[in-house]
Order: sequence, then structure tokens, then C-alpha cells
Amino acid sequence: MVQTHTHRSGGAADISAADISPSDGASSLVRRMLDAGLLAPTGVLGLYGRSGAYQDVADGIGMMVRRWGASLGARRLHLPPVLARATFAHTNYLESFPDLMGSVHVFTGGDAEHKQLLRRVESGGDWPALLEPAEVVLASAACHGVYPLCTGTLPEEGLTFDVQSSCFRHEPSAQAARMQSFVMHEIVHVGTAQSAWDHREEGLARGIRMLEALGLSMQAVPASDPFFGRVGSVLAAGQLEEQLKIEGVTPIPGTDGVTAIMSANCHRDHFGVPFSIRTAGGDVAHSACVAFGVDRIVVALLAVHGFEPERWPFYVRAQLGLAGTEG
Ligand code: ATP
Ligand code: ZN
Ligand code: MG
Repeated sequence: MVQTHTHRSGGAADISAADISPSDGASSLVRRMLDAGLLAPTGVLGLYGRSGAYQDVADGIGMMVRRWGASLGARRLHLPPVLARATFAHTNYLESFPDLMGSVHVFTGGDAEHKQLLRRVESGGDWPALLEPAEVVLASAACHGVYPLCTGTLPEEGLTFDVQSSCFRHEPSAQAARMQSFVMHEIVHVGTAQSAWDHREEGLARGIRMLEALGLSMQAVPASDPFFGRVGSVLAAGQLEEQLKIEGVTPIPGTDGVTAIMSANCHRDHFGVPFSIRTAGGDVAHSACVAFGVDRIVVALLAVHGFEPERWPFYVRAQLGLAGTEG
């Protein structure tokens, strides 16, 4: 596994773009984005700061998704990057993706334990072993925070949310499009089997049109999640066969193959059951989400249109609300 080196005594803060060399496996696109100052290094692969120019594009994408959400009467939610551990347990994420999740640990001791902690830090020992699990974990998907808000009986038309949060997935990578911390923006519907399926279908088409309007070449492809372990491949085959997950993929210049910059997912009753959500008719609720990987969309746009958004085609800047910002 590729890792960014933490040489020199100063550690992470000392690492510059030049330190991430080809021999570290950092892809050329990441290195070029670091050199251009679009990303700031942290010493950890897949963990970056974003420049103002990068964030302005991300904000523009957020605005486009919000416009769609507003047209559906979606309830807007900006969720924190952490999720209640109890909620997380209900999502069954641990069953399928234990290798991707991240937990938060906190210090709960007194003076004596504090002294012990500092001694461990000084000696370079295993100080995290002295911490306790907190009541929160890192969010793995933006939509996870929505389902506990739906517990009970839904209104006739179901509930629709426009939800975004920073997400964490422990998949350190040198690829520009695979980060450990990234923003996910989703339009989620919880309702009947039919309304959830319709949301997935209409949302997929709508999302692909939105991304094509930014000059990206899009294709919809059935996909499966990277379920963990031996039963994982069985689950993935079932998901593919039922076409529950469709990805919107695009070629990102400077990277191999195509990359999923959005996904449209039908969960059936996967969340309705554990979160005790019922339709107005009394059935177990179904849900579907259309998820935009905001950072992947920014990376794709930068790779396709160039590293200077002020020089992008007018129609792209106009869509992103950047048209008035050039000098
Ligand atoms: P992939 O197959 O590429 O790992 P995924 O199936 O894990 O994607 P989803 O769980 O459907 O992705 O997440 C929704 C969207 O979030 C993805 O379509 C993608 O745009 C984005 N995304 C997922 N993982 C990452 C990541 N590690 N870094 C950046 N964006 C991500
Ligand atoms: Zn989702
Ligand atoms: Mg993944």
C-alpha cells in the first residue's frame, strides 16, 4: 500500500507538493493539483486542503444540486461530518464495509491518566490506546443522518431531503478522485417502493443532465458496492442483478478508465426496517438516494477544462455561478 512519507522531524506540516514524488505512487494529477496550489498536502494520502478557487467550484456544484432539490420541495439539511454511533449501528454499514469506516476516540481520564497520556506521547508510544470511543463515528455517507428523522409514519407523498456532509472513508489512495475525506451531496427520498424507485430513475437522468451541462461526458452504468469479505461477492452480484446501484461515470483526463462522480441508489427497505419507517399506507418504507461526489466533480472539471476556472467556457462558469467573477 502506498503511503506518503513523513520524513524530517516536523512531520506532516513539512510535506510539500514536491515531497510527493512518483515513487510514492501519488498520481500525476494529484501532484499537478498540489503544484498548482489547488490542493494543500497534509502528509496523509487522500487528505487535502482546498484552495479558494477549488472551493468556489465546489460551492457552484452545491448550488446546482440545491436548485434541483428546491424544485422537488426537498428539506435542506447540512449535517456534521460525524454521526451518532447509535444511528451508524442501525445503517448496517459495519456488516458490509467495516474496512471503510472511521471511529472517533476521546480522552475521558483525570489528572493521573493525563500524565500517563503525555508520557506516552513523549516516548512515542501508543497514546491512542489510552482513549475511549466517543458517542460519534465519522459519517460514511451523507444520507445516513436522514433516516432517524423519518422514524414513524411518513406523509402521503413521503419525505425528500437535500442533504450534504463531509464523509470519511478509509481508502488511502494516490488517485485524485479517491480521497479519505470528501463532500457528498445527496437528494434522498423516503416513501413507497414505487416512489423510491421513481426517485432513483428520475434522479439518475436529472443528475446526468446536470453534469453534462458542465461539459462532462457522462455514461450511466450498473454498479455494485465493494462489500467486505467472502459473502461480499454474493451481495454485490445480487445488487448488480437487481440494478439497485447505477453510477454516473466520466473519463477524467490524466487517469485511467472512467470514474463514478455520482451514483443513484435504490435501497429497498434496507433503512426502512432498522429505522422503523412506515408509509402512510402502513407498509415498510423504501428509500433511494442520488449522491453527487462533489470533490470528484471538481477534480473532473479541473482535469477537463484546465486548472484556471476563470478561463473555463462561459456556459460552464454560468452554470456554476462563476460567470461574474472574472476580472
Ligand atoms: P467507488 O466505486 O468509486 O468507490 P462508491 O460506490 O464507493 O464509489 P458511493 O458509495 O455510491 O460511491 O458514494 C457516492 C459518491 O461519492 C460516488 O459516486 C463518488 O462520486 C463519491 N465518492 C465515493 N467514495 C469517494 C472517495 N473515496 N473520494 C471521493 N469521492 C468519493
Ligand atoms: Zn445515500
Ligand atoms: Mg467506494
